[in-house]
Amino acid sequence: MTTAATGDDIMAEARRRRTFAVISHPDAGKSTMTEALALHASAIIEAGAVHGKAGRRGVTSDWMEIERARGISITSAALRFEYRGHMFNLVDTPGHADFSEDTYRVLAAVDCAVMLIDAAKGMEPQTMKLFEVCRHRRIPVITFVNKWDRPGREALELLDEIEQRTGLRPTPITWPVGIAGDFHGVADRLEDRIIRYVRTPGGATKALESELTPAQAEAELGDDWRRAEEEIALLAEIGADHDQKEFEAHQSTPVLFGAALSNFGVARLLDAMVDLAPPPSPRDDVAGAPRPLAAPFSGLVFKVQANMDPAHRDRIAFVRVCSGHFRRGMVLTHAATGRPFATKYAQAVFGQDRATIDDAFPGDVVGLVNAGALRPGDTLYEGPAVTFPPIPSFAPEHFAVARSRSSGKAKQFRRGIDQLDAEGVIQVLRSDLRGDQAPVLAAVGPMQFEVVQHRLAAEFGAEITLDRLDYTLARRTDAASAERLARQRGAEVLTRSGDQALLALFTDRWRMNSIKADHPDLLLAPLIADT
Ligand code: GDP
Repeated sequence: MTTAATGDDIMAEARRRRTFAVISHPDAGKSTMTEALALHASAIIEAGAVHGKAGRRGVTSDWMEIERARGISITSAALRFEYRGHMFNLVDTPGHADFSEDTYRVLAAVDCAVMLIDAAKGMEPQTMKLFEVCRHRRIPVITFVNKWDRPGREALELLDEIEQRTGLRPTPITWPVGIAGDFHGVADRLEDRIIRYVRTPGGATKALESELTPAQAEAELGDDWRRAEEEIALLAEIGADHDQKEFEAHQSTPVLFGAALSNFGVARLLDAMVDLAPPPSPRDDVAGAPRPLAAPFSGLVFKVQANMDPAHRDRIAFVRVCSGHFRRGMVLTHAATGRPFATKYAQAVFGQDRATIDDAFPGDVVGLVNAGALRPGDTLYEGPAVTFPPIPSFAPEHFAVARSRSSGKAKQFRRGIDQLDAEGVIQVLRSDLRGDQAPVLAAVGPMQFEVVQHRLAAEFGAEITLDRLDYTLARRTDAASAERLARQRGAEVLTRSGDQALLALFTDRWRMNSIKADHPDLLLAPLIADT
């Protein structure tokens, strides 16, 4: 085990960390951007599959067959790379139509988010859902308008949409010269430079970037440059300038334009991350007291990955370091149970190439093997006890009744459901009316049902049937309202086993609104991540 770093060393390491996620709608270019970011970095330590798409890196796991068959990524991993003396941790949010709670939970582990928008499509539904979590957690957001090499919307129109949908004031850092699809470069409003973009054949390698003087821009780009100049003057007039305090306070979002596919604007994004994105800051514990970065080690489990290796039936817990110096081999305390937790098998790399990690600092992501007792939201610490607040459960939108196929397997069924509930794989809702043998499973994305079905059969020997219910939204309610809601058509109240919250389910928004109109005093509070 390495010796413990001093407080000053820990602070210096923390200051050079940038821990972030890319939030986007499928197809906006997240995988392309991830690869482009890594391409610019000098040292890359890969922690798991970036994306499970065919031909790209895969991960070995039996239940991830579902994932492989569909060519999508269910699980999140972290990518680490160094750039300009800074250590980046890019925590992957599975960006497919098949959402899961993990997609949201990884946002508990980051200090900043890059919102990637397709220039032709603007703010799409999944981007909005993820943005809502950033808003709730007050995570600063940098916006990257991607695919500017293809026909798309007007830049000013996109700014309007970003402002209207997110409520953040967009402050362009770069401004495009030439419309989407006829792109000549950007004016860098912060660095006061004009960068010419030269398309490379094939587009797979770095775009050629060269600097122009305003006179050269005028001569070479003519009307396109004059138009960009006018728009930039307009931005200055309306005060769309970057303000670091507002950005960190989640009131504004710096905006960059580019094309991940040809690497244009990618280095500028990394520079913006270094210069603007916040480093790790002290995390509040359950009592609201911040744990200083230089305090002894503390970490938050934000994701638990089961059965990455079918031969061992192991579990890896992904831990975000919140304070202190993590040294492999140290014995930590698991706050939920008070039991010791040995870290002999800490890893920085998952999937096929597992590599050992010996040291980690605030902002880093560490994978702990044999983490059977750890759950998402758990705290690990050394020294003075600390517990971080649990990661909230999100608003489920898909519901199904689970039943054991064989009555002889009732016990295994019950145990399996309880286990997956505790792991946070799915939310489990129960009511007296439905009984113990027919719990309602509630998911953020339908893929979670397949995972539950697969794991119950493979790990607990319990084959199940799933009957989808036609509810699509949930609200938090109380006992008094529950009684009256029970008499309504198109609504049902159940208890969520994780936190004993009463959830009212509705077939659709229209149904809920009409019940609300008839009974205005009912308690129907939005759950987190509602839009
Ligand atoms: P993801 O689903 O968000 O991970 O999106 P991908 O990275 O897989 O990209 C979706 C599609 O958009 C792919 O065909 C990419 O080649 C393409 N793409 C991504 N970025 C750009 C870009 O900047 N310009 C163009 N023209 N295509 C892009």
